[in-house]
Amino acid sequence: MKDKRKTPNLEKFKTKILDVFFPRHNKCIFCDEELGGGEINDCCLPCLRTLPFIKNPCSRCGGSMREDETGVCLNCSRHNFYFDLAKSVFDYDGAVRLAIQNYKYNAMKFLSEPFSNFIWQVLKDWNVPYDVITFVPMHPKKQKIRGYNQAELLALDIGNKSNKPCLPLLEKVEEGTTQTALSFEERRQNVQGSFRFNNAYKNQIKSKSILLIDDVFTTGATSSELSKVLKEHGAKQVFVFTLAHTKLKSH
Ligand SMILES: [Zn+2]
Ligand SMILES: [Zn+2]
Repeated sequence: MKDKRKTPNLEKFKTKILDVFFPRHNKCIFCDEELGGGEINDCCLPCLRTLPFIKNPCSRCGGSMREDETGVCLNCSRHNFYFDLAKSVFDYDGAVRLAIQNYKYNAMKFLSEPFSNFIWQVLKDWNVPYDVITFVPMHPKKQKIRGYNQAELLALDIGNKSNKPCLPLLEKVEEGTTQTALSFEERRQNVQGSFRFNNAYKNQIKSKSILLIDDVFTTGATSSELSKVLKEHGAKQVFVFTLAHTKLKSH
């Protein structure tokens, strides 16, 4: 029995030793290839060329549209969102999807830095005027298990880069059921009443433009509900910036 218990610890120890000599950030965060040095955002050149960057975003939700499409996507023409604008860096697909899953579920916290750099680039491209940064909150019980809120780490990094305050304006009060397989309407109903404004910041939100950060934009139901809560408490505008956007379905 003793030996069995020892094995995982030994593995952990080996990994730690390997991390000292071969730090993870010397490898491409998407394909694990060794980096030569000088790469942008810990991403190798072949990945940089092939990653699914969103080139033709919907002007409302930021999802990838076909080259010949303009304006808003079909999803946005059907739903009313409370946020003013949403943008993402990547389609939630392939290597991007894997890296984000590692970031969320495999404790790869260090990915927050290169990930927030990618968001920062897109933020600069769109040049939206924001006063305060916030993030999609996680239920305290879930955060205790994971040890961190992946959206918060991204928002804090962006706060450091922009010199704007990053404040926990929102709180998740209900865990809700898992949303993975739900449609927009089901999600909208699922998230209603799940969040509340953190009243400690009631004087810092009046007539302010808010930048809301998350890792993945799925149907927009969560971002919309949070934007509604922020606007009910006096926010003037809400801009949603995420690392990835689930691919829009062609209808
Ligand atoms: Zn790579
Ligand atoms: Zn759209």
